[in-house]
Amino acid sequence: EVVINRIAAGEIIQRPSNAVKELLENSLDAKCSSISINLKNGGLKLLQIQDNGTGIRKEDLGIVCERFTTSKLTCYEDLGTISTYGFRGEALASISHIAHLTITTKTANEQCAYKASYTDGKLNGLPKACAANQGTLISVEDLFYNVPTRKKAFKNPNEEHARVVDVVSRYAVHNPTVGFSLKKFGENLSDVKTSNNSSHIDNIRLIYGNNIARELLEIELNDDIFKFSVSGYISNVNFSTKKQIFILFINNRLVDSTALRKSLETVYSLYLPKGSHPFIYLSLSMDPRNVDVNVHPTKHEVHFLHEDSVIENTRQALESKLLGANT
Ligand code: ADP
Ligand code: MG
Repeated sequence: EVVINRIAAGEIIQRPSNAVKELLENSLDAKCSSISINLKNGGLKLLQIQDNGTGIRKEDLGIVCERFTTSKLTCYEDLGTISTYGFRGEALASISHIAHLTITTKTANEQCAYKASYTDGKLNGLPKACAANQGTLISVEDLFYNVPTRKKAFKNPNEEHARVVDVVSRYAVHNPTVGFSLKKFGENLSDVKTSNNSSHIDNIRLIYGNNIARELLEIELNDDIFKFSVSGYISNVNFSTKKQIFILFINNRLVDSTALRKSLETVYSLYLPKGSHPFIYLSLSMDPRNVDVNVHPTKHEVHFLHEDSVIENTRQALESKLLGANT
C-alpha cells in the first residue's frame, strides 16, 4: 500500500512547483498576510514555506496528512473555501509519501508552537512543543528521495526554481494584500518580493516590469445572464512580449483555459506583430458548482458551465476595451 500511495503521490506532485502551488493555497486558505518561501536546488533539496495564518490546532496535527480527511477539519466552516481550494485533502498526504515533511505551527489559542514530522501519511512520534510565532512553517526536504526515477529526471534545478518563481509571481499578482517573498536558501536577494498593502497593478509592475504596467487597461464585467464576473488587467497594444503572459484565476484558483487564452489572443493578433503576445491577467468568479474542479492538481486546464458563452462575452469585453483605448 505504501508503494501504491507513493506512485499516486508522485503523480499529484510531479515537481517542486506543484508542491508550492498546493502549499501556497493552504497558506492563503489560512488567511495569512505574509508568505515566505525558501528553496534549495529549486525546491528539490529543500522547500520551506512560512505563513502567518491561523495555524493548525495541535489535535489536528495527527490527521492533516491522511488522505481525504482534512477538508472536514473544523476551520473550514466556509463552504466557498472548500469548493475553491481545499477540497481534496491530498497535498500534505502526497508530500509526506515522497519527501521528509515537517510542520511547525501555532494557533492564536495555543501557548506554544508544535513541531511534527511525517512519513507516509503518519506522524513520527508526537508533536513537540517549541517556540514560534503564530502561523505555519512547512518544510519539505529531499523531494522524491524514495522515487529514484523521478529524482533522476531533474537535470536542472535552475529550471525548477524558475517554475516556482513563475507560480509565486502569479499568486502575488492576484493577492496584493498578501506579502510574498521567495528566495534561494541563504541568499539575501529575493526573486519575488511584494508587500501586503499593494495593488494588482503595482505587483504587475514590480514583477513583470514597468513597460507592461504603464498602459494597462482595466477589465470589469458582470454577466447576469451567464452569472459570472471578470476583473483584471490587460496590456494595451503598444506592449508585447515574446512569451505569452496569461494569468488566469477562477474563484481564486490558478488555472488554465486553452480555449479562453486562444480566443483572447485573436483579439490582439489584429494589432500585434506576428510572434508577439500580450499580457493578460484575469480573475473570473462564478458559482463553484459550475466549475469542473475535479481536475488533476498538475493539470491546470479547467472547464466550466456555459464555457463558449463565458469565453465569447469575455472576449467581447476585452475587444471593446482595446478598441476604446485605441480610437
Ligand atoms: P486540503 O487543503 O485539500 O484540505 P491539504 O493536504 O492541502 O488538504 O491540507 C490539509 C489540511 O491541513 C488543510 O485542510 C488545513 O486544515 C491544514 N493546513 C495545511 N496547511 C495549512 C496552513 N498553512 N495553515 C493552516 N492550516 C493548514
Ligand atoms: Mg490544500
